[in-house]
Amino acid sequence: MTDLHRLSIRELTEGLANAKFSARELTEHYLKRIEKIDAQVNAYVTVTAEQALAQADAADALRQAGGAGVLTGVPIAHKDIFCTQGIKTTAGSKMLDNFISPYDATVVAKGKAAGLVTLGKVNMDEFAMGSTSENSYAKITANPWDLRRIPGGSSGGSAAAVAADLAPFATGTDTGGSIRQPAALCGLTGLKPTYGRVSRFGMIAYASSLDQGGPMARSAEDCAYLMNVMAGHDAKDSTSVEKDVDDYVANLNATSVKGLRIGIPKQYFYDRPLDVDVRDRIFNALRQLESMGAELVEIDLDMTEAYVPTYYLIAPAEASSNLSRYDGVRYGYRCENPLDLMDLYKRSRSEGFGEEVQRRILIGTYALSAGYYDAYYVKAQKVRRLIQQDFLKAFENIDVIAAPVTTSTAYRLGAKLAPEITYAEDIYTIAVNLAGLPAIAFPCGFATRQSDYYPEVPREPNDIGFGTSGSCEPVELPVGLQLIGNYWSESQLLSVVHQYQQATDWHTQRAAIAEENA
Ligand code: GLN
Repeated sequence: MTDLHRLSIRELTEGLANAKFSARELTEHYLKRIEKIDAQVNAYVTVTAEQALAQADAADALRQAGGAGVLTGVPIAHKDIFCTQGIKTTAGSKMLDNFISPYDATVVAKGKAAGLVTLGKVNMDEFAMGSTSENSYAKITANPWDLRRIPGGSSGGSAAAVAADLAPFATGTDTGGSIRQPAALCGLTGLKPTYGRVSRFGMIAYASSLDQGGPMARSAEDCAYLMNVMAGHDAKDSTSVEKDVDDYVANLNATSVKGLRIGIPKQYFYDRPLDVDVRDRIFNALRQLESMGAELVEIDLDMTEAYVPTYYLIAPAEASSNLSRYDGVRYGYRCENPLDLMDLYKRSRSEGFGEEVQRRILIGTYALSAGYYDAYYVKAQKVRRLIQQDFLKAFENIDVIAAPVTTSTAYRLGAKLAPEITYAEDIYTIAVNLAGLPAIAFPCGFATRQSDYYPEVPREPNDIGFGTSGSCEPVELPVGLQLIGNYWSESQLLSVVHQYQQATDWHTQRAAIAEENA
């Protein structure tokens, strides 16, 4: 078969179960595509061909012996933030360029136990800090829809791999949108689960109170299959929650859109920089959901303006603490010929960390330092609680909240926006992490508009860095919509999006490069 990469996860499980193809054929098919096409996309940091073929053979043997599970033999790509025993785990950093973990992350171990075949590790912004996948020591990943554009980040490699049909699904992590934003910019579906639903053990830490792993795939249905593998309590992660896990696949039709109350936050859609075409596509999708029986209710989320400052204190503060372990002594990069211990610390860290990571360590260390701690860090924690309460108040009257994922479609690689502008772009994703809520991003249309990027605040393109690598002629690019749910509502979110995807075909559109055959 030449079009195995077109098949959904359900179709893959059926094909494997009915012996239409073997795990080895499927794995060879994907490896061939990676070899031919990934040079243009740069999604993979490490391709584990040999190990993948061995896993595929083992999967086929297990199936012959009658011991296969549903997903036995289905390939996957892992974000390079999940530790993989015997295979490099770099987190996109020079600091970990040679790091080989002695153990598997729980998410990876669960994947292996489910019979998933690891194709390789995919690119990301360094230590998951960024929104473009350009902050990677390894390489810059392109958006499969337009190779001159960003795939988003930090899980840009995961998104690009799936959008170019170089993996049927992938793991991602989301500290402030890193699953949802690249999913939106690459036309995919991505779920950020409730904090504590997926184990963080072996997932390299950025901001521990916000970090959460989740699935990235072409549809809610495909995400549900991966959630069934990833979710669950883990004794090795004290913040993972001991709570029964749903069967996300079996529940795909459990929540009816009929009667679903969808909150539309005024503060998200009006009076703020949001590309008019993105807003238009989102409103079309909401009208579609309305025609399927949902009720649209305007709501207030008064804390919206506090999201960015709060996140950009708490996340860097936790990062500065988490990243203090990389000191050139225990593991990771070590500078050449240190003069003394201080020199070893200083040079190992300044040579091993990239610019954005250093910026955040500085911000976070400042916010945590004596004299500033109460004014910044403690204050941010109080505001964080208010943001959470704002959501909980909204959920008293509605079931889910609709939100944009991004303020515009994917911008150009090399645009190099000023840090504060990139940070401001996170407005629609970071509150969910501060509150610990689940949210799903999914495709709801295409748009070309780039020029009126900030329609309410007209600027010259160069003011925000556009145009540095040539003009942006219009290309049809995916637009994402986000649904935010109450705690533990992953089944509901997947189910609502699944029904939307039964009625629409945005999620079945493929980037031109995905149509190429290997
Ligand atoms: N853009 C966010 C940041 O740079 C995304 C972080 C994430 O979710 N890993 O912090």
